[in-house]
Amino acid sequence: MPDSLRRIAEIGSYHAHVYFDSATRPSAERVREGVDARFPVRLGRWHEQAVGPHAGPMFQIAFDTGLFATLVPWLMLNHQGLSILVHPNTRNPRRDHITDGLWIGVPQALHGDILPTDAAAPDEAGERNSRAATMVYDIV
Ligand code: ZN
Repeated sequence: MPDSLRRIAEIGSYHAHVYFDSATRPSAERVREGVDARFPVRLGRWHEQAVGPHAGPMFQIAFDTGLFATLVPWLMLNHQGLSILVHPNTRNPRRDHITDGLWIGVPQALHGDILPTDAAAPDEAGERNSRAATMVYDIV
């Protein structure tokens, strides 16, 4: 089978996973608060224990593709020293997490072997629940 280039239309949404521990949780709270106030995203709940492929505590930010160019640079400048995994959501969650994501801060271990390689559809960003989802925003 010949190599083929993939289309960005495969990407249904993105996730940013913000990792923390007991010492850095206040930093994670600042990041979350900053995102909540500025970006119309879906903020996941706090996972105080490792869950899924993630080797440590984290929370998830699910966001539409159109926010990438503002949210990701904002996280680059405001990650507070935390590690953040930004990955696309396509029909291959294992590849999305393990080989196709990018790291802000220090990369962390992932347990990608538990993820499927062929999902029925890419994850969508879901219902927005940040404060910024309900207001007009013009600063980031
Ligand atoms: Zn994810």
